[in-house]
Amino acid sequence: MNYKELADMIFPDAKEISYYEEKYPVRNLPEGAIVSRFAPSPTGFVHIGGLYQALVAREVTKKTDGVFFLRVEDTDQKREVENGVTDIVNSLKDFDMAPDEGMISDTEEIGNYGPYKQSLRKDIYQSFAKYLLEQGKAYPCFCTTEELDETRKKQEAAKVRTGYYGVWAKCRNYNVEEAAEKIKNGEKYVIRFKSPGREDRKIKHHDVIKGNVEFPENDQDIIIIKSDGLPTYHFAHAVDDHLMRTTHVIRSDEWLSSVPLHLQLFQELGFRAPKYAHISPIMKNDNGNKRKLSKRKDPEAAVSYYKEEGIPANAVKEYLLNIANSTFENWRRANPDKDMDEFDFQLNKMSVSGALFDMVKLLDIGKTVISKMTAEEVYENALKWAEEYDKELAEMLQNKEYSLNVFGIERGNKKPRKDISKWADVKNSIIYMYDDKFLNRDISYDYGKISDKEEINKLLKSYIETFDIDDDKDTWFNKIKDVAEQHGYAREVKEFKANPDAFPGHVGDVSTVIRVALTGRQNTPDMYEIMRVLGRDSVVARLEKAIKA
Ligand code: GLU
Repeated sequence: MNYKELADMIFPDAKEISYYEEKYPVRNLPEGAIVSRFAPSPTGFVHIGGLYQALVAREVTKKTDGVFFLRVEDTDQKREVENGVTDIVNSLKDFDMAPDEGMISDTEEIGNYGPYKQSLRKDIYQSFAKYLLEQGKAYPCFCTTEELDETRKKQEAAKVRTGYYGVWAKCRNYNVEEAAEKIKNGEKYVIRFKSPGREDRKIKHHDVIKGNVEFPENDQDIIIIKSDGLPTYHFAHAVDDHLMRTTHVIRSDEWLSSVPLHLQLFQELGFRAPKYAHISPIMKNDNGNKRKLSKRKDPEAAVSYYKEEGIPANAVKEYLLNIANSTFENWRRANPDKDMDEFDFQLNKMSVSGALFDMVKLLDIGKTVISKMTAEEVYENALKWAEEYDKELAEMLQNKEYSLNVFGIERGNKKPRKDISKWADVKNSIIYMYDDKFLNRDISYDYGKISDKEEINKLLKSYIETFDIDDDKDTWFNKIKDVAEQHGYAREVKEFKANPDAFPGHVGDVSTVIRVALTGRQNTPDMYEIMRVLGRDSVVARLEKAIKA
């Protein structure tokens, strides 16, 4: 018996690998085009770090007219959850990052290099495993869990590296007859890679992000096909990224130390290795300690969090670009109105150590992003969010024309209002503009410097007498000055500052009284615009309500 016969016995139906090489030809793309992918496992939780990797992969493929694809890595079926694939597909869609190729729903895919779900590629992996078996570069291993435990204990006692390698790789030494005999006897087995490596030799490697790295060679005979017939991550990575013609593997740096093994697999399979770019994780400052964003401890680790909070997808993407390339911030300052896709993203300028996640900064970007939207865009986004997460807000927004006027206040000008960082802020930021949420509710008025109720009422009454909704802005403001003067307040702030003892306050203090009566707040956008949107009846009703309060 020879290797070929053993291989046939194990995988009698597997196709020749040439079949797949022809089926998935080298891609016809412009010179320098990058093909990369996002390859998550459907474990029910899309991590912000995953989105970050996907964003980076997508950026570089877009910049080079390449291909960005989505591959679902579902070979660990114990970890798989219901809707896992749908969650991934929808997360990418939510961030306007749908792939060029790959899974587009739980069951559908686009592109010629599929299937893009690993559990549907069993035949392919088996062909390539057979190819290795035929050359004696892989072998069946019959070790039971108990035997492997036993070996590990011995290794620990002898203080040597654990694993399946060298003298410890028992099944490596069976000849083909012995192996065939065991298979005939119905012994369970996995397929292991026969590593040609030696631990005392080093390999040098250049990672696009981490730079030059050096590792001992791999000498572990890792499992490539498990007893359920599915591949391990390592083997699937080599086969898939070869056949899908990936040029750049962009992934989390937890895989950096597997590079020696992966290069060896590519070598033994006769494939050309892709370039690797290992991304550092996003970190969090936890009472002065830097740690990875944790699925368990940090709600912001989940991509779903951003949607629920209503942080605009663009703000999240822009923030991630910010941490990906430190030059982004200056670029943005110089080009405040450009689309972020115009930024010249550089994979090799990514930071080697993990960036700290900064929610304050993200929300600040959210404010800027929203401040640049038109009233219509704010309205549409806020409504969409509210329909899912805040029924009361959705109801308020039913009156579209009025709501557009509300969102139009101080918008579209040079210094637009910047009070909304996420859709969850909207209700609080506009609720006082809705009469049914204001006129028949208890408002706790805090008028600031002028606190005597009788004085406040006098000021408000005088103002109602002179108020006219049709006044232009200058006339409107002059009337507030008139009211101030009439009651002994300084007409101008300057006047007051020059002689503070001569007045009980100035026009600004009077204007605060009117503002608080009108909105219940000391800080609001432009009061003139607010009044114009509220309309005459509402303004008067509000001032009267305050007088009665
Ligand atoms: N399924 C692997 C993971 O989620 C993919 C790593 C890769 O991108 O190759 O970590």
